[in-house]
Amino acid sequence: THNRKRSEQLYGEALEHIVGGVNSPSRSFKAVGGGAPVFMSRGQGAYFWDTDGNRYIDYLAAYGPIILGHAHPHVTEAICRAAQTGTLYGTPTELEIHFARMLKEAIPSLDKVRFVNSGTEAVMTTIRVARAFTGRSKIIKFAGCYHGHSDLVLVAAGSGPSTLGIPDSAGIPVSIAHEVITVPFNDPAALQEALNRWGSDVAAVMIEPIVGNFGMVMPQPGYLQELCAAARRNGSLVIYDEVITGFRFHYGAAQTFAGLAEQEAGEASKLYREIEPDLTALGKIIGGGLPIGAYGGRKEVMEQVAPLGPAYQAGTMAGNPASIAAGIACLEALREPGLYDRMDRMAARLAGGLGESAAHYGIPLTVNRIKGAFSTHFCQHPVTNYDEAQDTDGEQFARFFRLMLDRGICLAPSKYEAWFLTSAHTDQDIDLTLDAARDAFREM
Ligand code: PMP
Repeated sequence: THNRKRSEQLYGEALEHIVGGVNSPSRSFKAVGGGAPVFMSRGQGAYFWDTDGNRYIDYLAAYGPIILGHAHPHVTEAICRAAQTGTLYGTPTELEIHFARMLKEAIPSLDKVRFVNSGTEAVMTTIRVARAFTGRSKIIKFAGCYHGHSDLVLVAAGSGPSTLGIPDSAGIPVSIAHEVITVPFNDPAALQEALNRWGSDVAAVMIEPIVGNFGMVMPQPGYLQELCAAARRNGSLVIYDEVITGFRFHYGAAQTFAGLAEQEAGEASKLYREIEPDLTALGKIIGGGLPIGAYGGRKEVMEQVAPLGPAYQAGTMAGNPASIAAGIACLEALREPGLYDRMDRMAARLAGGLGESAAHYGIPLTVNRIKGAFSTHFCQHPVTNYDEAQDTDGEQFARFFRLMLDRGICLAPSKYEAWFLTSAHTDQDIDLTLDAARDAFREM
């Protein structure tokens, strides 16, 4: 068992100065029994070390962005170079064009893009642009999907698919929540019912084309095609939130799975055929670990954005040279042949081993894996929507989380969050992780 005295001490200090001791609530240990979160002080490759000097194998990957592992030399060098030549000019730069071109080549639905500073900003702006383009005000989203912390998407389901949303946070006016309709994921009838009910008020349907926020959940076959067709018939736009999924599974996004050879994408190549969103939000991986977001899409829609059009969006830090340089370097490194296959293969071995080991000790575990990322749910049933994800054992997860942490394996402190492989993980790391999991399951 690790000694984490220094983390405990720092948490005490942090509580005095930083609200809740953390700069994002997902970092607190509230959902896993409370107490001090681990304060990390250094990262290298697949590992990071806490302030007490304990090493952890990192499956948090900073909630997704650190796909190359910590302090990847190519990204580090790009950031250093950017720092030496000035971190912010408040003018356009040449590298922004280069980066926009890279994103467009990887994700062809992006006729035009705009860089912002976070996934939250990217999503928030796609909604404004969709409303400007359609002249409509409501959006439909899916229960359990997280799209950042802007007012419009921090809204939970009302009491049925035809009812309006309720705020998921204090400080959000009911009038704003009423602009959002929340329906269950993977339920075409519920979506159609909402579209029938709210019809010409619906500006857009917003979806994570692979859900990353209540576990990793794929759309059922035909679901996205139905969703896109239903939205189009209704004159509503389709917005894909690919903040997690962008560049996570292959060099592209969930929406470009269809463009891959079937042997490379497997089932996914069918799931994503003949769909194209009007707008896409990106973030996380595309910043190589620095703050970034981007949104883009169809030319006519994007031309709503100022200075061309009437929809205003701006940013002092937007497209800052350091984030752009880190993003370019990250995408360059992701082009290494075989890199995604390696993550896929290691995740398969890890996810398979966890399943076997849990079964051996009689612990119900459902593992949802999509290439190099997977979620583990303490339950017997499949997890295909938010209700099923909620109906999993949080206390068992909390025990597992702490037993793993004490054995040097760091997961996100949430029963919903995925495990992310990085290109820095090795077969030996997978073995160590499986050993730790076997111990943990035995104790449980
Ligand atoms: N969309 C999705 C799908 C996300 O998972 C997240 C963050 N977890 C966001 C948007 C918000 O991104 P950010 O935290 O960079 O604001």
